[in-house]
Amino acid sequence: MARIIGPKCRMCRRSGVKLYLKGTRCDSDKCSLNKRPYAPGQHGNARSRKSEYGLQLREKQKAKWTYGVLERQFRKYVTRAMESKGITSENLYRILESRLDNVIFRSGLAVSRAQARQMARSGLFMINDKVVKTPSHAVQPGDVIKAVDFSKVHLREGFILPDWIGANVKGRYITYDRYPTLEDFNGNYEIQSIIDFYSR
Ligand code: SF4
Repeated sequence: MARIIGPKCRMCRRSGVKLYLKGTRCDSDKCSLNKRPYAPGQHGNARSRKSEYGLQLREKQKAKWTYGVLERQFRKYVTRAMESKGITSENLYRILESRLDNVIFRSGLAVSRAQARQMARSGLFMINDKVVKTPSHAVQPGDVIKAVDFSKVHLREGFILPDWIGANVKGRYITYDRYPTLEDFNGNYEIQSIIDFYSR
């Protein structure tokens, strides 16, 4: 399955915010954005996008890079969000958050979404007792996610379990309790700007 490749720190520097793409490094002094808090390239310091289009484009890129989704897939998500009932921005947030790799990351079982993706692809997780190897698999409320081999899964330090995901420590499984709503939104991108970008 295709995935975003390329220097991850440049994506953060291009976005101007931390996207937390490199696991523990992101919270350390080694974070490139701490050292060089400006866009990459010769004119990185001077460059700024001011047009509405540019701002919307940047928000879209931030979300794509955060979740590690390629343009074609991302566009499909937006189309699905627009065609579904309810608030489009909330629908999009729900679709992105329900990806299996994201749920694994949010549950503290991987240091980054990229690692979560790799783990899922290796068949390290079961959903409702069935191994699922597709990182983009849409997790549904009520689904129970369990590691196939506990020796290969370690809890990330300092993670905060979101309200919509439950953990059964004794049973060693996590539950996807409900879809997140806009009230839960804590992304570092403007979700409405993304909808506006694709509505042009
Ligand atoms: Fe982004 Fe810093 Fe992590 Fe690099 S280390 S991916 S710049 S947050």
